[in-house]
Amino acid sequence: MGSNALRKAAINEKAKDFLLSDEVLFKVVKKAADRYIGGETLDETTQKVLHCNSEGFKCSMEYMGESTYTEKEANEATNEFIRIAKEINNQSLNSTISLDLSHIGLAISKDLCLINLTALCDEAEKNNIEVIISAEGIDRTDAIIEMYKEISKTCKNTSITLQAYLHRTKDDFKDLIKEEGRIRIVKGAFETPKNLSIPRGKKLNDIYLNYVDQLLSKNHKCSIATHHHEIQQETKKLIQYYKVSSKIYEFESLYGIQTEQLTALKDDGYTTKLYFVYGKEWYLYLCNRIAEYPLNLFQALKDIVD
Ligand SMILES: Cc1cc2nc3c(=O)[nH]c(=O)nc-3n(C[C@H](O)[C@H](O)[C@H](O)COP(=O)(O)OP(=O)(O)OC[C@H]3O[C@@H](n4cnc5c(N)ncnc54)[C@H](O)[C@@H]3O)c2cc1C
Repeated sequence: MGSNALRKAAINEKAKDFLLSDEVLFKVVKKAADRYIGGETLDETTQKVLHCNSEGFKCSMEYMGESTYTEKEANEATNEFIRIAKEINNQSLNSTISLDLSHIGLAISKDLCLINLTALCDEAEKNNIEVIISAEGIDRTDAIIEMYKEISKTCKNTSITLQAYLHRTKDDFKDLIKEEGRIRIVKGAFETPKNLSIPRGKKLNDIYLNYVDQLLSKNHKCSIATHHHEIQQETKKLIQYYKVSSKIYEFESLYGIQTEQLTALKDDGYTTKLYFVYGKEWYLYLCNRIAEYPLNLFQALKDIVD
């Protein structure tokens, strides 16, 4: 019930406007959001990335935002992602770029999206920066995979995210493992009709690990993007069993979530990565982080009071 209420709150425009227009309330809630975001700007995020790099984490950066529905918004978002690519180079950050294709035009037209994605990947390629395409709602999966395959022909540093909870991923995986690009495995965050996905639980965990096993055994570049402690521990065993190089895999967590688990992996010598998002749309991001794990509400209260 709590999760559903928060998901509703996240998309409630009136609640959002009220919060953003009230100076005191804004400051209070922002304190809770700060745990999960790089900041509101690229500059703030760069500082956090520099710090995390110095501690031995790789990082990924994303300019947060929802689907854009005008060409102007899609182009503006693309320019911000290009700015990230330049910043990574200028500041010598150990960071990749992550993005939703719908942010740079996929919800408008495939042509526009491909133009924008090409502009970003061309900039990133100049300095060997990896661009990781996120997975979105199942209604967009075909288009996202199509874009990925198209861009991979010219930009070798592009990676794709697959959602273990979708039944269709079994086939997508077989197809995409033939490509060289890194495959990031996530459980999946979007609501789907019941018959199209597997709910959280042992079955999904086993399927997730099976994908990881296949990737590691084939020495295919991959990202194990989960906060699930048991899955991380099982993955460690697989890495040792297959003697996988630290350049092939990475354990990846969202910044601010179960960071102590990722730190322990790093301290044990495993490759680890923190995923930063930044921007002004942090209200939605905060609600989603609490909704997916309602105990975070207590953490939010603590962050506000402290
Ligand atoms: C780097 C990265 C990239 C992602 N990209 C995508 C994407 O492109 N598309 C997509 O659909 N999804 C994406 N996700 C989200 C993903 O699909 C899951 O919804 C999310 O990671 C939570 O699932 P889980 O694997 O951590 O396992 P769960 O089974 O959801 O959680 C396992 C355990 O992890 C811990 N945990 C999980 N979430 C939280 C939280 N918010 N706060 C505190 N503890 C928590 C808890 O201990 C929980 O018991 C991404 C996740 C990561 C880490």
